[in-house]
Amino acid sequence: MGARPAPLLIFGAVFAAAFVLAALGYFSLRRWEAAAELQLHGQARDTATMAAEKVEMAVVRAEQDAIAALQAAALAPDFGPAAVEAWKARHPLFNAAYVLDRQGRLLYPVAWTRDEAELIGALRAEISQGFWDRGGRRHVEAGGHVILAAVIPGSARGPLLVGLRRDDQALHRDVLEKALGGTEGQSALAILDGSGRPVFGSRPLDRAEPVLTVPFGEALPAWRVALYQPAGLSPRDMVRRQAMIFMAALALLLVVIAGGLVATYRLVRRESEIARLKSDFVANVSHDLKTPLALIRMFAETLEMDRVPDERRRREYYGVLTRESERLSRLIDNVLDFSRIESGRQRYEITVGPVEPIVHEVVESFRHPIEQQGFVVETAIEPDLPDVPLDGDAMKQALANLVDNAMKYSGDRRRIRVAARREGGGVAVEVADDGIGIPLSERERIFEKFYRIGRSETQGRRGSGVGLALVKHIVEAHGGRVTVDGRPGDGSRFTLYLPGVS
Ligand code: ADP
Repeated sequence: MGARPAPLLIFGAVFAAAFVLAALGYFSLRRWEAAAELQLHGQARDTATMAAEKVEMAVVRAEQDAIAALQAAALAPDFGPAAVEAWKARHPLFNAAYVLDRQGRLLYPVAWTRDEAELIGALRAEISQGFWDRGGRRHVEAGGHVILAAVIPGSARGPLLVGLRRDDQALHRDVLEKALGGTEGQSALAILDGSGRPVFGSRPLDRAEPVLTVPFGEALPAWRVALYQPAGLSPRDMVRRQAMIFMAALALLLVVIAGGLVATYRLVRRESEIARLKSDFVANVSHDLKTPLALIRMFAETLEMDRVPDERRRREYYGVLTRESERLSRLIDNVLDFSRIESGRQRYEITVGPVEPIVHEVVESFRHPIEQQGFVVETAIEPDLPDVPLDGDAMKQALANLVDNAMKYSGDRRRIRVAARREGGGVAVEVADDGIGIPLSERERIFEKFYRIGRSETQGRRGSGVGLALVKHIVEAHGGRVTVDGRPGDGSRFTLYLPGVS
């Protein structure tokens, strides 16, 4: 019993290790989750930034081309409104153009609306002296629009200031669609205007969630590029899902470890129980063999020395010799059969035959001990029982074990009933006693090999614990079954059900 704490210690250690593993797994998962989220966010930002740069470059290139064309037109000596009109027709990206000379006079358009007058005024105010001198291009915000302002040198009228207003539809069609249209992958890109409303989306944005936005350069001030992910597919969601899968796998692993531990523990307990029962078995069998042998020897010696006072005693002694040697051979048969069953070598020779002679023969073989120990045996065999498939010797052994037990486990009420009756197409054979009975909780276990009920109760009653295991094996080999009923203190009844000829 000193070995008891060892399995507990081992299980405790394994559980502790599993717990540490789970804790480590959890914390590294959290770290990984944070790192992965950061990385995915970084990737999303890179994608959006690249898209912003692509759009910005496309806008700037279109503007450069348009300005270069206008500059070329301005070199012509007859440059005037007609030339600007012709230029506009070729550059639909711009829906309005304003051309001013160095003195601030408006050369184009020849007529303008009130709004345009305001816009032109704002443009004049934005353009400093330095810009006239340095030249170049810049985006200015005037009258709620982004105007590309550029100084064109070298025209016949001296340097000219051009203000170009972009057409949103053309921008959409010629620039945004070309730059962002073919985005692949799960994510969608959108362009948001100054108030955060999407003005363009690379694909439908419904059921998608914005992940992040990045600003454009000066060509599209106030606008931003937004990266959208389908609902449930944002980096955060994806990381969460992965983390959940890992957690679930970890939990499963722990459950498997716990299950394995419990299974191992039960197996070990069962094995050690069997080992204990086996050692009891050896002790019990040795004791069982010794007792009848000692009796046989003693009575044989007495007879041999002719020390028996009278004929009645002599007969009695012969009876003891017969009874004890029968007991010995039954015990040895049990052990041999049991070992044959254990090694899978047991064979039964089953032929169809009557049950009645078997019952009589078994009861008869117990006649001596029955009389000696003061038992009353009632035999009730229904007439005209059907013949059933039987191995006669095996069935005798099974019945003898039941009768032997009925005698062993009887108290003062020494009555045994052996009955055989028709049951379905077969036969049921009962052996009942008025003995100590069997608790309900033990009724399954008594048929296990080596098992004996609460050793103290059966102590003093000889037995090896294999008798009922043999009975069960024998009836099951006949395609039948064995049951037990009765109440503790009120006797037990064992019934063997033997199926008929099928
Ligand atoms: P044993 O050699 O101990 O009799 P068995 O396999 O024949 O082994 O029986 C197993 C246990 O079942 C017995 O130890 C006893 O506790 C219980 N048992 C068997 N038959 C009876 C009975 N007729 N009445 C009460 N208990 C019984």
